[in-house]
Order: sequence, then structure tokens, then C-alpha cells
Amino acid sequence: MEHTKVLIVGAGMSGLSACLKLIEAGIYDFKLIEASDRIGGRIHTIFFDNSFIEMGAQWIHGTKKNPIFELSKSLDLLDGRKITEGSVHYRSQDGTQLDEGFVEKIFDKIENIFDNLEDLIENELEEDSDENMDDGFIKILKKLKTNENVNIETIKSIYRSRCNEEKVDNACEDLRRLSAIGWNEHEYFDGEQFTRLKYGYSKLIEYFFAQIPTKNILFNHLVANIDWSESPLRVTCVDQSNKQNITFTSDFVVSTCSTGYLKNHHHKLFSPDLPLEKIKAIENLGFGLVDKLFVCFDKPLFNKNYEGMKILWQDDITFYLDCDKKWNLQENKFYQALDNFEVLPNLPNVLVCFLVGKEALFIENLEEECLIDVINELFVKCFFDLKLPKPKRVLRSRWNEDKFALGSYTYIKIGSGLKDVKELHRPLNNSLFFSGEATNYKYMGTVHGAYITGREVANRIIRLAKF
Ligand SMILES: Cc1cc2nc3c(=O)[nH]c(=O)nc-3n(C[C@H](O)[C@H](O)[C@H](O)COP(=O)(O)OP(=O)(O)OC[C@H]3O[C@@H](n4cnc5c(N)ncnc54)[C@H](O)[C@@H]3O)c2cc1C
Repeated sequence: MEHTKVLIVGAGMSGLSACLKLIEAGIYDFKLIEASDRIGGRIHTIFFDNSFIEMGAQWIHGTKKNPIFELSKSLDLLDGRKITEGSVHYRSQDGTQLDEGFVEKIFDKIENIFDNLEDLIENELEEDSDENMDDGFIKILKKLKTNENVNIETIKSIYRSRCNEEKVDNACEDLRRLSAIGWNEHEYFDGEQFTRLKYGYSKLIEYFFAQIPTKNILFNHLVANIDWSESPLRVTCVDQSNKQNITFTSDFVVSTCSTGYLKNHHHKLFSPDLPLEKIKAIENLGFGLVDKLFVCFDKPLFNKNYEGMKILWQDDITFYLDCDKKWNLQENKFYQALDNFEVLPNLPNVLVCFLVGKEALFIENLEEECLIDVINELFVKCFFDLKLPKPKRVLRSRWNEDKFALGSYTYIKIGSGLKDVKELHRPLNNSLFFSGEATNYKYMGTVHGAYITGREVANRIIRLAKF
């Protein structure tokens, strides 16, 4: 049985940053075990059309003091090209064109609601309040003075569109499940929130990978069990190619598994079972599904600087999908989730649409031809004046189907809070450690959140271990 001082489960951003911290301290007595055949985890860049598509993370959020921004800058990986703000084609589902200036004025008002909401949460809610985001919105919405000439159904459709963005940001399909306190305590690094990497996130990940000796990494090895009952810990891995078991003993083990993976597998993964408080924390935290749908055309759609196209679905306008019978969709209204298409800056012939929750799950399982038909019909009906060609291809992420992620990112569900994140992060016997985006209360659900926790855990191990 091979012994290794430190064993890290998972070669996503958190696992890789932990390895790098060990290497910086001159420590090479570690093993990084990855169940899949690639590095990156929820960072996954696909090469496409002489450029790339990000199936997972794509932006660096914040430029001031953000370690991911600093590192990418030092490696000359940032895409420095300025994107001039483009226009958006707004339509109702019957093709009615909505004035861009008007829609954006309402968006601004709704943005103010969000700002007011932050004050409201700050001043009026107790630390352990169970108030949800939807209640918060409704309180403020009542105070929103609307212009009497404006159709309230249109305002509602704009409000709903803005809420959809919030759902994606939090991987939470129902804002009534999102804790208002948790939402408010999410922190941001200052500066530009949407910095891109010129070759995609994979190049940053490759920088980490290049520094880790090949002998320290095992791909296609699933960590099936971590026995933490005594020191050293015993870790059983299954080689995915031949289903053979390999067992390691290790003084320190770091799990970087996603909340989705832990929710589904903690009973089998850990022997003995994790303490009850930790199991409760895993169960209490929210973990949602966000997917991306890429609609590809032969040529760029717009020669002017257009950012994209939005369908503002209104309750008072009926809409039928003619191709639903052909594809046996049984009047499922999943297509209403296809509401916001943005042009990819590096691929102007590709539009991206973010999906969340059960619609994302439904779309993960549709045939590509069906999706092409649905999108084509939507575009013909809603944007008929633009005379768009039929999409050539549709690509999509499938984060629910990814059996080592089982979803997209963590959020603070009502009933959970800081105490659960702290509990999840808490090491057991100073030998079993937990890191990853879910263990970072301030920066949950981000690449920098994962990076920071990986380094922090490695640092603790360096201090504890007698190398
Ligand atoms: C669609 C989407 C868009 C996003 N956009 C952004 C964005 O623009 N900006 C941003 O900052 N963040 C974004 N994020 C979030 C960001 O990608 C994640 O927070 C971050 O990458 C998580 O890293 P991690 O190391 O915590 O986990 P992971 O990346 O999930 O790494 C865990 C690793 O563990 C492996 N693993 C799991 N179980 C086992 C096992 N039993 N044995 C061995 N290996 C195992 C997995 O295969 C995986 O490689 C996005 C995420 C998604 C899904």
C-alpha cells in the first residue's frame, strides 16, 4: 500500500491551487486524484470554430485584489479588448418590438429595487432571519411607482427577466428558496465584474497543471472511500478503466468534491459517517443547476454592434409552439426559459443562453435536432423582422449529467447560513479537510472562491505537518 503525506481529491480549481501551494512550500509528497480524464472540474473550455466555448466558468469577477485576476494578468492571459456596449433586440413573444430605451429604463428601476433590497436586508432583517428573496422583492415592488401609461404586463415581464438573471447568478430556480441574508452577504472584489481570458479559462488551469509532476496525478481514478477513523487515513480509489481498487494511506486528505457530489455520496464516501452536524450542513446548503446553451450559425448574425436578443414573455399573450407535436413535447413550456441570447464576443456567429433549474434539466435531455427546431421557431416568431437563418448547431453544457459535479454551484438556501458553510469547511481530526467553492462563504460559487479555499487548506496542512 502506497503512503502519501497529503492526498487531494479532485483536480478542479480548489484541488489544483492546493497542490500549487504545497509545491511553493517545496512539498512534493502528495497525490492529486481525479475521477474524470481531465483537469478543471467546473472549468471546462471546449475548442470550437478556431476559438473556444466555456461550458463552465467564463468570467473573472472583480479586478481589485482578486487573486485570479492578478495571476491571469501576470501570465498575460487576460483578454484586454474593450467591448463597446452593444444594443439588444427586445421582443414580446408575438414579435412586438419593445423600445430599447424604455426597457432599459425599467431595468434601471428594478436595479434600484435590488439596491434598496440590500439596505432593507441590512437594516430590517435579523442575522438568522428566514426571509426569502421573493418576499423581499415584493416588499420593495409595492413601493415602485410605475408610470400609468405603461402596460403592467410588460413591466412584469421585464421584472421577471431581471429575476431570471438573479436565478442564474445564484443557481437557484426559485427565489423563494434563496436566503435574503445569504444573498446579501456575498462579497465582490471591486472593479470590472466580467473580465474574460483571451484563450479561455483552460489556459490558466494548464498553468497549474504544468507545475505538478506527472507522477503526482492520477486521472480516471474515483475516490470511493475515505476511512478517517484513525491516522493515517485510508483512501480507496477505483481505476475507472479496469475497476481495480488501489488503496493509499495518507496523513492528510483534502476533499474538494462539489456540494452536489457530497449530497449524493457522503454516506459511501466517508467511513465512519461524517458527524451529524456536517451531514446537516451538506443537506441544508442549496446546490442548483445552471447550464449554457450555445446556438451556432454559419456567419455572424449582426454587422452592427449587437449584444443580443431578449424575449420578454408576457402573461397576456398566448403562444404556441408548432413543433411540439413532432417532438412530443406535450405542451411543456420549457421554451419560455429561452429568453436571453447574447452574442459571444470571441465568436460573433454564436449566441449563448443561460438556463436554470428544471428547464435546464429538461433541455439537457433533448435531442439536438429538436432544440434546433424549437429555437428556429422561436426566432422566426419573435424576431421575424430580423429574418435569422436556421441555426447550424446547438451545443450545451450538461452539469447535472456530469456525475462528478451533479449540478453547478452552491447557494445559501433559506434555513442555511454561515454556520453551515463553516461546518462544511471544518476539518475533522486535523487530518480530513474540506475545500472548494462551497466552503467559501464570502465568495461562494466562484473560481476565486475555490482557489482561495484550496490554498488556505494547504497552508493549514503545511503548518500542521512535519515535513
Ligand atoms: C455553468 C457555470 C458557469 C460558471 N461561471 C462562472 C464564472 O463566470 N466565474 C466564476 O468565478 N465562477 C463561475 N462558475 C463557478 C466555478 O466554475 C466553480 O465555483 C469552481 O470552478 C469550482 O471549483 P472547485 O474546485 O470547488 O470544484 P470542481 O471544479 O467541481 O472540482 C472538483 C473536482 O473533483 C472531482 N471529483 C469529484 N468527485 C470525485 C471523486 N470521488 N474522486 C475523484 N475526483 C472527484 C471532479 O471531477 C472535479 O474535477 C461557473 C460554474 C458553472 C457550472
